[in-house]
Amino acid sequence: MRLSAYFLPTMKENPAEAQVVSHRLMLRAGMIRQQSAGIYAWLPLGFRVLNKIADIVRSEQERFGAIEMLMPTIQSADLWRESGRYDAYGPEMLRIIDRHEREMLFGPTNEEMITDIFRNTVKSYKDLPKMLYHIQWKFRDEIRPRFGLMRGREFLMKDGYSFDLDYESARKAYNRMMVAYLNTFARLGLTAVPVRADTGPIGGNLSHEFQILAETGESELFADRDLLEGGILKRNIGPTDDVDAYVDEVTAFYAAADEMHEAANCPVPAEKLMARRGIEVGHIFYFGTKYSEAMGAQVIGPGGEPVTVHMGSYGVGVSRLVAAIIEASHDDNGIIWPESVAPFKVGLISLRAGDAEVDAACQKAYETLTRAGVDVLYDDRDERAGAKFADMDLIGLPWQLLIGPKGLKAGVVELKNRKTGERQEVSLESALAQLGA
Ligand code: ATP
Ligand code: MG
Repeated sequence: MRLSAYFLPTMKENPAEAQVVSHRLMLRAGMIRQQSAGIYAWLPLGFRVLNKIADIVRSEQERFGAIEMLMPTIQSADLWRESGRYDAYGPEMLRIIDRHEREMLFGPTNEEMITDIFRNTVKSYKDLPKMLYHIQWKFRDEIRPRFGLMRGREFLMKDGYSFDLDYESARKAYNRMMVAYLNTFARLGLTAVPVRADTGPIGGNLSHEFQILAETGESELFADRDLLEGGILKRNIGPTDDVDAYVDEVTAFYAAADEMHEAANCPVPAEKLMARRGIEVGHIFYFGTKYSEAMGAQVIGPGGEPVTVHMGSYGVGVSRLVAAIIEASHDDNGIIWPESVAPFKVGLISLRAGDAEVDAACQKAYETLTRAGVDVLYDDRDERAGAKFADMDLIGLPWQLLIGPKGLKAGVVELKNRKTGERQEVSLESALAQLGA
């Protein structure tokens, strides 16, 4: 992509309305613009990151046996009356009346809808277990939307739902999702801590939140130091490994969200107990037959008897993750994207647009990288080099390739690593090879 033809409205000054660094940097880097309180437009750069995160979430879901589908954003109030949540949900639910005076709502989550789809389509235990998910916009009329994408009103969530014949099988589904989540966050460059959580309005009796440690986090957690520092969360477990044994090992450590933590009953000695702030990026629940019972989701069991299915639900805050990654990875000059979610891998900077030799070398670099499938943002603008450096540092691409007249005379270009700041002067060929072309 040529920057002269792209849409990247960066800002030099810090926007006054942004209180946390991720919000500030996303506005300044031209990733998002607010349209109403807690409702954002995704500009091209931000949208690329959002899609990359969604793709990583998707690939770990598929790897652990979840199947993608897509449910609508608008739902019928009647479904929510069946579960009893239409009244229980309160003012966070955005209620809508259509032209025929039918009561609708903008979905804050999808337990009712997926249970309805299940009860109308699945009839036999032979079709179980099933794990279905989608990545779809949600709306929650948060009382205080704040911190940009961190607590929006409209936000993108991956929500998955498991259906099993009994508790043992449902527990395996829960464990698979816990591991899929740990893998997902690791691929995003994050360490997420699974903490025991309250089940809240979703209900049920087993639940973990996944918290990214960050001082700006809205949540508080308490955890055994050995869990946070012992390396167990960094182990990469695949679907053919012993998932259940690993989850047993992880959950044997004490880790609790603040509402679950009772100082008096805490099993961890004070010197090993760490109190930290965190950003909740995921939440998983096993809730048994709460919805299947209320909504009549049954299958015919192996002995011919009707069995009410056991369910769980599994959410990842996809849009919140964009902000969480920035909170975890930035410096005074801007964002530092992990390569896995960077909007482009390379920022190519022409230090003198219009100079024939520089233009030719840049063009060659741009074409070679593009042909090799490397995403490049080519700053071909006729701008001061200083302004180009500042923009490139701000948007945080992992690599910068700088090409100027002086270097070319000496036969070199400059390759800069955004994260380490390390610079190398090498031939153009060697730089391109290092970048994967
Ligand atoms: P929170 O405690 O932060 O309000 P929640 O418990 O209401 O979150 P869940 O219902 O568990 O959230 O939703 C799953 C995930 O969706 C959360 O872990 C979070 O990452 C994300 N999420 C929830 N609410 C918001 C929001 N208002 N803006 C952005 N992401 C959100
Ligand atoms: Mg939660």
